[in-house]
Amino acid sequence: MEKKAFGPTRVEVSVIGQGTWDIPESGARRDEAVLALRRGIELGLTHIDTAEMYGSGRAEEIVGEAIRGVGREQLFITSKVLPSNGSYKGVLAACERSLRRIGTECLDLYLLHWPSSYPLEETMRALEALVEQGKTRFIGVSNFDVDQVQEAQSYLRSVPLACDQVLYHVKERGPEAQLLPYCAKEHIALVGYTPFGRGRFPRKEAEPGGVLGRIAAAHGKTVRQVILNFLTRERSVFAIPKASRVEHVQENAGAAGWRLTAEDVAAIDAAFPVHEGPLATL
Ligand code: NAP
Repeated sequence: MEKKAFGPTRVEVSVIGQGTWDIPESGARRDEAVLALRRGIELGLTHIDTAEMYGSGRAEEIVGEAIRGVGREQLFITSKVLPSNGSYKGVLAACERSLRRIGTECLDLYLLHWPSSYPLEETMRALEALVEQGKTRFIGVSNFDVDQVQEAQSYLRSVPLACDQVLYHVKERGPEAQLLPYCAKEHIALVGYTPFGRGRFPRKEAEPGGVLGRIAAAHGKTVRQVILNFLTRERSVFAIPKASRVEHVQENAGAAGWRLTAEDVAAIDAAFPVHEGPLATL
C-alpha cells in the first residue's frame, strides 16, 4: 500500500485507510468485520479510523480486537472525542476511555469529532495536553471549515494541527474549493470520509458506459478503486473507506499505487464539478 507523509507529522501513513462507523457489532458479521480489518492491515491499510461515538465505544473495542498481536508501530490509529465531551476534563477522560477500549497506551491521532459548544480554546488546550502526556502523538479536528481550522490552529502552542477530517466524495467535492488548498499550504492532512457517498454513490456513472465505468475498464480496475484513487490524487489527501467484508477491503487496497491519467482526471472533473459553499457534513 502506498504511503505518504501525513500533514506536518513526518509519519508515512497509508493513502487508503479503514473506517469503522456502523461496523457490525454482533454475530457472524462482527466476526467477519474483525477479519476484514485484519486483512486490511495485512494489505497495508494501516490507518484505522474510529471514534468514541461509533457503536457507543463498541467500534473501538472491535478495533482493539482486530489489532491484537499486530506491532503497534505498524498502525496509525485515529479516534475522536464527542463534542459533548469537549470540556478540558471531558476530553482527557474521553481519551482515557478510548485508549482502554482500543487497548493501546497512545493514539496516533485524536480529533474533535465536530465543532462543540465548549470554547474551542478549551478543547484544543486539552488535546494539546494529551500530546504532552503521551496519550496521543498528534491532534486534529473534523468537520471544520477553513475559518474554524484557523481558529483551532490559533490556540495551539506546542504542536501543529495535523488533520481535518471531512466529508469528501465525487458528488461532494466542496472541500477542494477552499479547504484543501488551505490545508495543503499549512501542511495539514485532509482525510476524506464517506468516500463512496453512502446514499449518493454515483450509480449511473459507474455503469460500463459511464465515465467511471469506462476509466475503470481502461485501467483494469474497479469503479471504487478509481473513485478512491481520484479522491487521494493530491499529496495532502487520504481516504478512509469503511468495509466490513473481506472482499471489499481487498478491493479497496487496490485503489492506490497507480495513477489516473490527466485525461481521466479531466473527465471525472467534468462529470462531478466542484461546488463552492459551506462545508457539507453527513
Ligand atoms: P463509506 O466508506 O463511503 O461506505 C461504506 C459502505 O461502503 C459500506 O456499506 C461498505 O460495505 C461499502 N463498501 C466499502 N468498500 C466496498 C467495496 N469495495 N465494494 C462495495 N461496497 C463497499 O462510508 P462511511 O462509513 O460513512 O465513511 C467511511 C468512514 O469515515 C467511517 O466508517 C468513519 O470511520 C469515517 N467517518 C467520519 C465522519 C466524521 O464526522 N468524522 C463521518 C462519517 C464517516 P461493507 O461494510 O458491507 O463492506
